[in-house]
Amino acid sequence: MPIGPTRRDFILTSGAGLLAAAAPATTNLAPPEKQRPGLNVPKVAEKPVGWAIVGLGQLALAEVMPAFREAKLSKPVALVSGHRDKAEQVAAFYGIDPKKIYSYENYDSIKDDPAIQAVYIILPNSMHAEYTIRAHKAGKHVLCEKPMAARVAECEQMIAAAREAGKKLMVAYRLRYEPYNKAAIEMCRSKVCGAVVQIEASNMQNTRPPNIRLSKALVGGPLGDIGVYCINACRYLSGEEPVEVTAQIYQPKDELRFAEVPRDVLWTMSFPSGVHAHCGVTFGSSSSRHYRVHCVNGYIDMERPFGYRGQELRTYTQRKETKHEFEMVNHFAAEMDHFSECILKNTEPLTPGEEGLRDQKVMAAIEEAAETGKRVKV
Ligand code: NAD
Repeated sequence: MPIGPTRRDFILTSGAGLLAAAAPATTNLAPPEKQRPGLNVPKVAEKPVGWAIVGLGQLALAEVMPAFREAKLSKPVALVSGHRDKAEQVAAFYGIDPKKIYSYENYDSIKDDPAIQAVYIILPNSMHAEYTIRAHKAGKHVLCEKPMAARVAECEQMIAAAREAGKKLMVAYRLRYEPYNKAAIEMCRSKVCGAVVQIEASNMQNTRPPNIRLSKALVGGPLGDIGVYCINACRYLSGEEPVEVTAQIYQPKDELRFAEVPRDVLWTMSFPSGVHAHCGVTFGSSSSRHYRVHCVNGYIDMERPFGYRGQELRTYTQRKETKHEFEMVNHFAAEMDHFSECILKNTEPLTPGEEGLRDQKVMAAIEEAAETGKRVKV
């Protein structure tokens, strides 16, 4: 008698043998009902929050409207535009009732439209305060694009209007709702590379006319448009509020596109713990966006931290670089759904008006520091 498995035993207990034994010719191995059982089919909430989009420019049409397709709790139900023909085309494409197209003149009548719960302000910066306050007076919750407003006083008026109406106000800091910047914050808090010492942040692009960003009257300029990302990042990465700033602004005299706004802004920020940040933005170079958090034992580095997509996060410790990868999300769908959830559950948004106000105070200090050449307290 042979000891151990015979060739027949081996065939029956090996994978090939089991398959042969378990699959009589009549068994249907294909998915039943022509699809896998337990398939995770995305479901739109039964009652998604109804949104009105105010301003149908580049951001609204290229990013925000398409993002609704990936949102689960948010649905576009109305449009506000100064260009009726454009709005009708957009409404037809997204299945919005043309009766729910408003102009800037009849905007206040959104108060009589119960389908609109949230209003998303995507207008030039000079118009953020007025259209936010009018929406609150109409009894609506507001998500306002960055920078929150033109001046500190306007931010305070917007916060007061929300409070008076008993409605929520959120600033569209989409990076707080996507996994890469969230991971970088967590790495700073958990000191994966040791305590934070210095942060450098830059946000560069080539802005060509015509563009709302080159108009002083529309509150353009690189500080509010792209610098606010660096300020906000240094605040969320350090977890502290800056106490003092120094700054320089450069506005070339011989380039027509910079007749009304600066080309470059460079500044430093000092934080209470002794962390320092140095930041730079320009409207005059090719696109480049980056931050690096220098820590006691290494650094945290993000390439394209402020882009709509394409973030690359690395840490460097003990002479070893590690790349960290996460599933990308649609930033706009994530931020809109966060706000919708706050509305549905009556909770406070992660980036309320107060968050925009803090950045606006830092921007005011940077402008004063550049003007006076002095260190300015925030
Ligand atoms: P845009 O110029 O493409 O759009 C501006 C919209 O406002 C247009 O529909 C325009 O018709 C309308 N408008 C109404 N009155 C106007 C006036 N007097 N002058 C000019 N336009 C007027 O600008 P955009 O790039 O869509 O930016 C809009 C807002 O969104 C800005 O506040 C900007 O900072 C913000 N933004 C945010 C992000 C982000 O990533 N969160 C990205 C881009 C822009």
